[in-house]
Amino acid sequence: MSLTKEEIKKYEQKLEEEREKLLREIQDHEKAVDLGNDIDSEEEEADEAEETGNQLAISRALRDRLSEIDEALESARGGRYGLCKNCGKDISKEVLNIVPESRLCKACKQKGL
Ligand SMILES: [Zn+2]
Repeated sequence: MSLTKEEIKKYEQKLEEEREKLLREIQDHEKAVDLGNDIDSEEEEADEAEETGNQLAISRALRDRLSEIDEALESARGGRYGLCKNCGKDISKEVLNIVPESRLCKACKQKGL
């Protein structure tokens, strides 16, 4: 089972939309982190250090997702979209419908790769 050009276009559109949404999310997020940088007391400082750690983790997760989306879009342009990065087989639409930036097929994902 291979994806048709129309189907790839559809996923590509979905990825572009996700990308826009994610970019806005990253912007909002990083703005919010900057605002929290004025420190008053030591106790608050500790709280904020932990908070900043959490924020950084979220930031990193958002950016990771962004790079996966970029990679998927790259694949779509190169005509390799929807192929498993590990075994090279088609990733099922079932998976792509939920996670259009998927890099692995279901079987490989289950192997924990
Ligand atoms: Zn695979």
